[in-house]
Amino acid sequence: MTSNESAPPTGEANSTHERGTGRQTTLRLAAIPAEQAPPPERGIRVIAVIAVGVMIGVLVWAVSRPIKPSAEPLVWDSIAPPQSTAIHPWRWIVIHHSASRRGNAQIIDHEHLNQRGWDGIGYHFVLGNGVDMPLGRIEGTFRWRLQQHGAHAGALPQQKIYNTDGVGVCVIGNYDNEPVDPYVERRLVELCAQLIDHTPTLSVGRIIGHKDVPGKITACPGQAIDLERLRYLVREELQRRGMTVR
Ligand SMILES: [Zn+2]
Repeated sequence: MTSNESAPPTGEANSTHERGTGRQTTLRLAAIPAEQAPPPERGIRVIAVIAVGVMIGVLVWAVSRPIKPSAEPLVWDSIAPPQSTAIHPWRWIVIHHSASRRGNAQIIDHEHLNQRGWDGIGYHFVLGNGVDMPLGRIEGTFRWRLQQHGAHAGALPQQKIYNTDGVGVCVIGNYDNEPVDPYVERRLVELCAQLIDHTPTLSVGRIIGHKDVPGKITACPGQAIDLERLRYLVREELQRRGMTVR
């Protein structure tokens, strides 16, 4: 088809016609006292109430529906850095919480970049709690993809090595005052197991909380994240899946 065939030349003729008519319509509105105004049709009111009810129902369902967690365990391929990037000889997995009800990698990246003046998000991984990030979603950040040092352990000289050699994992949520969702815990266990299985310098005993970093005065990752239990579950996961137990 050529371009000549596509658009019929009607616009020009119509606008000329409209310009030529120049008619004006005067609408007269008689003022009716409010109490004499006819009531709206009952049917319309019923439809409006039903429509509002349906909208509220849809909203409540969308907000409260449980997000179906994936039954598939985490696989290395879904978190592996590019093949050309050698795995850094990490020595610790340092667990953090965001100490907030919500958040995701992008929000934290923005905070760390603009409020703290760092070169972006300080963690290597962020684990979602289902508010701003799907429940149990594990997101590797640029630091993990580049196998680059973190900025999560602390600024004191004795804490530096936990940034250079510690994989920083941030679980979204405030675990000072809320329990860990079982699915989030499962995903954290799977992540730690994969990291240990693929990093000879890591071991179950090297899973620590931020509060375990020397000189760090913090409750992070919150009392609901029980590090002893986490290490037990990771060892169990490594054994169960035939991975390297160390
Ligand atoms: Zn922390």
